[in-house]
Amino acid sequence: EETTDERKHRLVEDSVRYVWRHGVSTDSTRRAQGPIAVRASGVQVEDIDGNVYLDALAGGSAAATLGHGREDVADRVASQIRTMQWVSLRTFINEPSIELAKRIAEVAPGDLTTSFFVCDGSEAVESATQLVKSYHRQRGNPGKTKFLYRKTGYHGTTLVGASASSSSEFRTWFAPLAPGFVELDACYTYRRPSGMTEEEYGEACAQAIEDEILRQGPETVAGILAEAIPAALVLTPPPNYLRRLREICDKYDILWIDDEVFIGVGRTGTYFGSEHYGVVPDVITVSKGITGGYVPLGAAIASQRVMDVLIADGGTGQAKVSGHTYSAHPVACAAGLAVLDAIRDEKLVDNVRDQGEWLLAQLRAWGRTNPHVGDVRGKGFLIGIELVRDKETREPFPAEWGVGGKVSKAGMRNLFMCRATGDVVTLFPALVATHDDVRAMFDGVTKAIEEAL
Ligand code: PLP
Repeated sequence: EETTDERKHRLVEDSVRYVWRHGVSTDSTRRAQGPIAVRASGVQVEDIDGNVYLDALAGGSAAATLGHGREDVADRVASQIRTMQWVSLRTFINEPSIELAKRIAEVAPGDLTTSFFVCDGSEAVESATQLVKSYHRQRGNPGKTKFLYRKTGYHGTTLVGASASSSSEFRTWFAPLAPGFVELDACYTYRRPSGMTEEEYGEACAQAIEDEILRQGPETVAGILAEAIPAALVLTPPPNYLRRLREICDKYDILWIDDEVFIGVGRTGTYFGSEHYGVVPDVITVSKGITGGYVPLGAAIASQRVMDVLIADGGTGQAKVSGHTYSAHPVACAAGLAVLDAIRDEKLVDNVRDQGEWLLAQLRAWGRTNPHVGDVRGKGFLIGIELVRDKETREPFPAEWGVGGKVSKAGMRNLFMCRATGDVVTLFPALVATHDDVRAMFDGVTKAIEEAL
C-alpha cells in the first residue's frame, strides 16, 4: 500500500516528466509549483495532504462560478452524455446548443443574438476576430484587417490572443506574432496624470484611440479588442470612456469586440460588464463562467446588425468563420444551460452585487488604515487591491520586490487562494459565495497582505 508521501512524490515526479504546465519551463520551477488538488466542494479546494483552501478565485482562473461539486450540473451533463454525447455541427444541429444560444441572447445586452460556440476563451477571441474580418469583407472593405488592443490586457494564448496581449513573455518567445495588431495604452484611472479628473482622463484615453485610428488609416482598421473592465488589474474605466469608444467605433465602421471571457456571465453584478456603462458592443466573447468550469466552452456572441451583414444576400458568400470538431458540443451546452438556470433561479447576479458591494466597502475601510493600500476598486465579484510603496505619491514598490507574489504566497500558506498581477491583489470568488464566505475572504486577504508587507 502506497503512503500519502509516496503517492505525492510519485505524482510530482510524473507531473514533471509527463505534464507540461502553464508558464513552466524548467525542472526546478516545475517541482516548485503548487500543491496537488484532489477534490473540491462549494468554495473549498482540498489538497492531497488534506489541507482545505478557501477559494476566492473561482477555481483559480475565475471559471468555477457556481462553486465546486454541483450535483445539478453533474446530472445535466451525465444525462446529456447518455442521451447523445456529440454529433458534428457540420452534419446536425443539436438541441442544447440552440437552447443555450437563445438563453444567452435573452440575457445579453442590446441586439447581441447569435452565438458561435467554441471550446475556450482563446478560441472565442480568435473566432471573434474572424467574424469581424468577414463582416468587413462582406461589406466590400477587405482592407480593414487591423485590430487595436490595450496594454496590460490579456486575450489568450493562440497566435491572435498572444498578438493582442501585451505580456512581454509572449512577445519575445512567440515572435513573430500575427501582423496588424496595434497596441494602445491602458485606461488606468488610478495612474492618470495628476490634476486630471476621471472624466477628463476617460476623454483623453478615448481621444488617444481615435488618434491611433487616424494614424493607422481608418480604412485599415477592422476592430478593437477591449474588455469592458480589464480583469487582470481590475481597471474599472471612467464612466464616459466606453461611451466615447462606442462613438469612435461607429464613426469609422470599426467593430468593438468586448472580451468578457473573464468578467461575463454575472461576475461583475450584471450579466455582462458592458451593461454598467450603458453601451452595447458588436461582439462579446465569453468562456470560463458560461459552464462554471464543469466542462470547457467558449462563444463569440455577435449582434444582429453584424449577422445581417454576414448573411446578407448579394454578399460575396465568403462570410466564413472556421468551425471546430467540438463547436457547440452538446455536453458543454447542457452544462451552460444548467449554469444559466442556477444563476436565474438562485438570483446569483443580485447576490454578487450585494455581497460584492459589502466586500468592496469593507476592504476600502480597512485599506484607509493600511499605509500600503493605494486603491481598492472593482465591481461585484471582481475586486483589485493595488499595493504601493507610498500612498500619497502613488509610487509603486520596486518590481523586483515581488510584493504581489509574496501576498499570494502568504495566502496559500494560510490556506487562502488569492492572486496578484504585479502588485494588484485580486479576488474573484464564485457567484454563489455567501455573506459568511465573503467575510472569510476579507479576513483571508487582509491577513495575507498584512503578513507579506
Ligand atoms: N480573454 C480574457 C479576458 C481572459 O481572461 C482569458 C483567460 O484568462 C482569455 C481570453 C483566454 O481564455 P482561455 O484561457 O480559456 O483560452
